[in-house]
Amino acid sequence: MARKDSITKLHNLLVKRRDALRQALAGDLSLLKALPEMTGGDVVDAALDAAQDEISSKLAEVESRELAQIENALERMRQGTYGLCEVCNNKIPLARLNALPYAMTCIECQRAAESNTGPGADLGMTFDADASFSDSEV
Ligand SMILES: [Zn+2]
Repeated sequence: MARKDSITKLHNLLVKRRDALRQALAGDLSLLKALPEMTGGDVVDAALDAAQDEISSKLAEVESRELAQIENALERMRQGTYGLCEVCNNKIPLARLNALPYAMTCIECQRAAESNTGPGADLGMTFDADASFSDSEV
């Protein structure tokens, strides 16, 4: 019951975050569209444009990836599979979901996956967040 309430809260949070990301991405895209039309200018301007272009597309890349993860989480909420680990099918602890609402695996499976690809820099952060959130959990 408490878990369900928390998931409802996370759902609202994810929807808000999704809308914000969509807006940001829409802004980035219009910015990117405007750039190729700026022809001429000196080399410095061109270099600056290129750098900004790169930053914008990097940001857009990160934002679209997060957006995809959020869409995925919302879809899983609709299907009722949200909060279950994709790998081992165990319930992902609420503390982890609060820290990372679109987590698709439990910490054990995430750690196993990341040990294959090298040390995960943000894994420690997730753990800290877990610890601080566990107090509010029932
Ligand atoms: Zn798992």
